[in-house]
Amino acid sequence: MSMLEKNPESVLIDNFGRQITYVRISVTDRCDFRCVYCMAEDMTFMPRSEILSLEEIAVLARNLVACGVTKIRLTGGEPLVRSGVVDLVGSISQLPGLQELCMTTNGSRLQELAEPLRQAGLDRLNISLDSLDHERFHELTRTGQLSKVLAGIDAARAAGFEHTKLNVVVLKGRNDDEILPLVRYALNHQLDLSFIEEMPLGVITEHDRAEAFFSSDDIREAIRDEYVLESVGDDTGGPSRYYRIPGHPGRIGFISPHSHNFCGDCNRVRVTTEGRLLLCLGNEHSMDLRAVLRDGPRDDRSVDERVRAALHASMAIKPEKHHFSHDEPPQILRFMNATGG
Ligand code: SAM
Ligand code: SF4
Repeated sequence: MSMLEKNPESVLIDNFGRQITYVRISVTDRCDFRCVYCMAEDMTFMPRSEILSLEEIAVLARNLVACGVTKIRLTGGEPLVRSGVVDLVGSISQLPGLQELCMTTNGSRLQELAEPLRQAGLDRLNISLDSLDHERFHELTRTGQLSKVLAGIDAARAAGFEHTKLNVVVLKGRNDDEILPLVRYALNHQLDLSFIEEMPLGVITEHDRAEAFFSSDDIREAIRDEYVLESVGDDTGGPSRYYRIPGHPGRIGFISPHSHNFCGDCNRVRVTTEGRLLLCLGNEHSMDLRAVLRDGPRDDRSVDERVRAALHASMAIKPEKHHFSHDEPPQILRFMNATGG
């Protein structure tokens, strides 16, 4: 262990006293789906040379954990379309000090990969599921097959994953009538469930975000037609508020970037596919970690020193808060797939 790892001052604390303990890493901008709120139908993806290699991602993870990060989420794009991702999970899961390694996936490849991921040391899965109707699922994802995702959810359970969470983006007039069926499905399968308000990331010409916006308050109201929701405390430092339904083990979360200000206890940063350390989802403040990795001597010690210095320097530019609004044009021109949702 180096001096830096032992030194408590090596943890990442920003100008507002918030310690960074949670990092989401986008391992690819590519995806086998084209969800209407996330991607345009005809997407141009980044050239290989511009995205971080799996080795570079592993180096970043090693240094983030050495700087006090205890939770890493691998996301994308669709993380499971990147070949070698299971080996990446295997190397990150070994890092001493890392408490939780999670992945957000669309579930389309879990039938084959749930077991290898579990063996490689992945702790937890979030699986996106916006509809239980085969035709509608295909419309919302443009290319996805519901049966594969449902089989993937079953495979995750069979592989021993616990506390798997479903992510649902609710869009007015598209799937808001499925709120209760999705809650029932989650309860029957012992899954946690999070409803996500759509965020204004990237302009998608064939999709009007203001028209599709459906608030967490409205979702809660729909659930209360059938269930009692009991609020539970939240210590994740994130935008989620959690509830329980009496008699059921799972939790129901509501992720509301518009309706509630959760920035005060933000503990997270993101690494984009091209290696930009993004200090806030709703702002462009960032640090080019790819340049830090690639420019200079390539031996482990030199790279580690450069990366840790850059991580600490980035703390000075983490913004205090974001300013999302669902009825104004997006200020953020990146898409969620490259950002790491
Ligand atoms: N492909 C994986 C998946 O779909 O789970 C991981 C990446 S995806 C970008 C992560 C999460 O972001 C998904 O749950 C997706 O529904 C959500 N998402 C994508 N675009 C969004 C947007 N504009 N607003 C809110 N959530 C969004
Ligand atoms: Fe792909 Fe996930 Fe975006 Fe859907 S939300 S297009 S599955 S990256």
